[in-house]
Amino acid sequence: MMRPPGFAGAAFGTNLTGDLRIDAANRDLVSRGLGIAADWAFVRQVHGCRVVEARLPGDLGEADAIYVQRSGLPIAVATADCVPVIVEAHRAAAVVHAGWRGAAAGVVPAALDALRAAGHQPLRAAIGPAIGPCCYEVGAEVTDRFPGFAAETTWGSPSVDIPGFVADQLVGLEVWRSDECTYTSPGLHSWRENQTEQRQVAVAWLPGD
Ligand SMILES: [Zn+2]
Repeated sequence: MMRPPGFAGAAFGTNLTGDLRIDAANRDLVSRGLGIAADWAFVRQVHGCRVVEARLPGDLGEADAIYVQRSGLPIAVATADCVPVIVEAHRAAAVVHAGWRGAAAGVVPAALDALRAAGHQPLRAAIGPAIGPCCYEVGAEVTDRFPGFAAETTWGSPSVDIPGFVADQLVGLEVWRSDECTYTSPGLHSWRENQTEQRQVAVAWLPGD
């Protein structure tokens, strides 16, 4: 697991740790290593902008962001090219799954708003590995949604910088970026690379008192 420096409870998995939402044995192992509970809360991701609060572990239904206000309850999203974001406040944390559709729908500001509405000021955010503008070839129907974030792949075709767009939405927060490209990194799942069903996780938690 990759631990963004300076974060209280944040980790990003790789293709070795796999999809820990469904792989209970590996989740146990990883949880022990991180010193957190093995029962996590997750959502069925639908590329929208709904945010849910985790009060219990398990499947919280269809949503693309989760926040938590209690310690001992890890929350997770899983991705393979989409942008995983972890947000920390003093006594709350959030995880966000932002593909281009969710990003365009405003899932990142929706998660920040949910934290603020619950009385928590977002302090810092970690943007995990995602497909970069180097490789995210898209058509005009996508680039048109992200003015200012049009880019070019390393092979010269139109692309869009979704991690950059997400970073730009984290106004006033301290932002850490992995900047690792899922498409070119052999250690990370990429749907664009091989249409894999596998996902790597982003998990957040509030450290115990
Ligand atoms: Zn790339």
